[in-house]
Amino acid sequence: MDFAFSPDQEALAKRIREFTAERMAPLAAEADRTGRFRDGLFAELAAQELFALGVPAAYGGRGADSVSLGIALEELAAGDLTPCYAVLNAALIGAILDGNATPEQCRRWLPAVAAGESVLALCLTEPGHGTDAASVEMRAEESGSGWVLHGVKTSTMLGAYATHGVVFARTGGPGARGVTAFFTPLDAPGITRTPLHDLGSRAGGRSTLAFDGVAVGADAVIGGPGLGFVQVMRGFDYSRALIALMAVGAASASLREALDHARVRETFGRPIGTYQGVAFPLVEHATALHMARLVAYEALWRKDAGLDHRMEANMAKWWAPKAAVDAAHQALLTFGHQGWSEDLPIARRLRDLIGTELGDGTAGATRLVLARRLLGREHAP
Ligand SMILES: Cc1cc2nc3c(=O)[nH]c(=O)nc-3n(C[C@H](O)[C@H](O)[C@H](O)COP(=O)(O)OP(=O)(O)OC[C@H]3O[C@@H](n4cnc5c(N)ncnc54)[C@H](O)[C@@H]3O)c2cc1C
Repeated sequence: MDFAFSPDQEALAKRIREFTAERMAPLAAEADRTGRFRDGLFAELAAQELFALGVPAAYGGRGADSVSLGIALEELAAGDLTPCYAVLNAALIGAILDGNATPEQCRRWLPAVAAGESVLALCLTEPGHGTDAASVEMRAEESGSGWVLHGVKTSTMLGAYATHGVVFARTGGPGARGVTAFFTPLDAPGITRTPLHDLGSRAGGRSTLAFDGVAVGADAVIGGPGLGFVQVMRGFDYSRALIALMAVGAASASLREALDHARVRETFGRPIGTYQGVAFPLVEHATALHMARLVAYEALWRKDAGLDHRMEANMAKWWAPKAAVDAAHQALLTFGHQGWSEDLPIARRLRDLIGTELGDGTAGATRLVLARRLLGREHAP
């Protein structure tokens, strides 16, 4: 058993850590305050090859292993969690396309993803369907030359920025096997985007997207009619481990700051870190985050080794965001009134982290997957 990163992975961690310290952490509060990413952010992320990491070399990417994606996201999230969603989507959708689209479609779409020219959104959730995503109601009707999309997607992270979306629509009967995935340009006529006003990740541009008779070509279908839901669910076994590491990265930053604060802040003439009432909760949260980090990296390592990683990825996704929110909350309390102020990153990180408990599936959704595997399919819907 080997718990060490490779020299290349260590070098990647160092590079992204330095980029994060210089270009992400100092600018995160402003993005949160204005509710917008700064101009040129996606180009900066692309220059760090963050979008290319998850794209195969044959299509202009770096073809990095999954553990490397996890490392990059953990480091980036320590400075600002919200832009991580763009890297996450590129990795998740890159994997879905690489595994299911034709080589011709991959040649058409993936080089622009790797270069950061295409910003991707995953358009699955609808106003009436989130956890029960196999019930989506958006319709795709066959036209002479392709398909026409009708319906509403909501909670689409990056919906305000994305150039393309993978849109899930019903082409067949009820249930998972009736859902098809369409690679859709989001500037197509008939699409209206309405930004949502959120507790956290305020610059992320989470939006509602209405599709009113949006025409897409026959070659927009990924994998084939009726395969979309299965494709995305397999992809979630990857992205759930990645989002877990985003949560760990952001919460660990707050915990480090809380530990530093506990060393110097004095009450009753002594540093608060000398009181076990302060130190022990921080120790417990450091332990919980460490465990979350291990199971997330185990999932990615198993994926890279070609092993089944569904259990570990879903364990990571329900556990890590919860552990991260609890740790970030404790960090805020350790800072006292200073933590409550938006002058420090502590409060923003807590707000942003709560979003990771919902995005890519709630703890309810992921524990359902685990219950099916541990108890048997007949014991969970
Ligand atoms: C920050 C953020 C980013 C997001 N990004 C995207 C995105 O890019 N694309 C996209 O399509 N969606 C996105 N979402 C939406 C997200 O995937 C959904 O919010 C999530 O799947 C839950 O669906 P819902 O909100 O409709 O809740 P519901 O499905 O209505 O569930 C409500 C509550 O009931 C629980 N619940 C439901 N059924 C069960 C059950 N059988 N057993 C136990 N508990 C259950 C859920 O866990 C939840 O707590 C994002 C959400 C957030 C907050």
